Amino acid sequence: MSQDHTSPLPPVGPALRLGVLGGGQLGRMMIQEAMNWDVRVEVMDPSPEASCKHLTTRFVQADLKDADAVVAFGQGLDAITVEIEHVSVEGLQRLADQGVEVVPRPSHLGLIQDKGLQKQAFDSWGIASAPYQLIESLEEAGAMGFPIVQKLRKGGYDGKGVQILKTPEDAQARGFDAPCVLEQAVDIDKELSVIVARSARGETAVYPVVEAVFNPEVNLVDHLMAPAAITAQQESDARALALNVVTSMDFVGLLAVEMFLDRDGGLWVNEVAPRTHNSGHHTIEGNVCSQFEQHLRAVLDLPLGDTGPLHPASAMLNLIGEPDAHGTPVYQGLEEVLTLPNVHVHLYGKSTVKPHRKMGHVTVTGPDIDSVQRDVLKLRTLLKVCGSNPD
Ligand code: ADP
Repeated sequence: MSQDHTSPLPPVGPALRLGVLGGGQLGRMMIQEAMNWDVRVEVMDPSPEASCKHLTTRFVQADLKDADAVVAFGQGLDAITVEIEHVSVEGLQRLADQGVEVVPRPSHLGLIQDKGLQKQAFDSWGIASAPYQLIESLEEAGAMGFPIVQKLRKGGYDGKGVQILKTPEDAQARGFDAPCVLEQAVDIDKELSVIVARSARGETAVYPVVEAVFNPEVNLVDHLMAPAAITAQQESDARALALNVVTSMDFVGLLAVEMFLDRDGGLWVNEVAPRTHNSGHHTIEGNVCSQFEQHLRAVLDLPLGDTGPLHPASAMLNLIGEPDAHGTPVYQGLEEVLTLPNVHVHLYGKSTVKPHRKMGHVTVTGPDIDSVQRDVLKLRTLLKVCGSNPD
């Protein structure tokens, strides 16, 4: 028999006031799920053009790192969450002290904002992650020899703030002169991600492992594939590792655990993200409970949903602005794409396109990995995000 559990929050519905820091595509897809339960989401974002702006009951334009602005936005809310980790921890702590339910906890956000603290925490919990050293400035860049992966401790995202330095000369020419993590390069076979939800009542739910499939020509992630092409043992080890991170942290909310599988079959945690994640977008059509609904369930301390897949395979392809795309977005080939079965298009509501800007994504579901991969190739050539004013 499970124990009775009483959430401190009002019942789900219009009386419940939920705020989110960040109004981009992750917040937007969370709002789409929140609408199903008539939960009205309030949003704060620095951009007047935020993707969520027209979907929210209250939009506040302010700097997410400004503690006073976060407190002013959050006062009177029942609960507040984030769709980005670069927010004021102090502001959120003040809201927690006033009785607002803050998920994830401010201390976890503080830990995750600093890649150095993250690495130290992995060590203290006995979680395998690449050997490293912390340095204060570029002078110390040789501390671990070369080649080395240099990561800014704070402020990096989407690979910005991470670089491989091959020699001392390379470090002098390109290295970051700031507090950094120096990390031994892992001989990566596959990059994997596991999303785990944990609610305040201690329930956990783990999604199947997702694989980032790289385009070898440009060495960039081409698409994400679920299930990952790994053995059943590796799948179960990766899920156990992600769950271990979440329980060691005593985390509440949704945590994406990024990891590497090396060429000897070893698993290493790279880093974690305390929110919905690009590697979980396929769960909207691919799994019983999407990561966005699951995030809401965890934040509102509701029973967690079923993470099981609805299809044998799913893939997710980001829609990125072409290298010469500027102006109003033009989604070339969209009509033809919409004739394909099992293809789902999501546009993020961004009114201008820029080169390489994430404008949306497409999910493909199918009977096996090979057929889904064939559809991904087809989509690659069919669909392009261009602009009304190319270079
Ligand atoms: P971000 O937080 O900006 O996403 P990551 O820490 O995830 O940055 O690093 C970006 C990419 O750099 C990873 O996806 C991986 O391809 C590569 N990378 C990071 N750390 C290592 C490492 N120790 N060894 C080899 N490659 C790495």
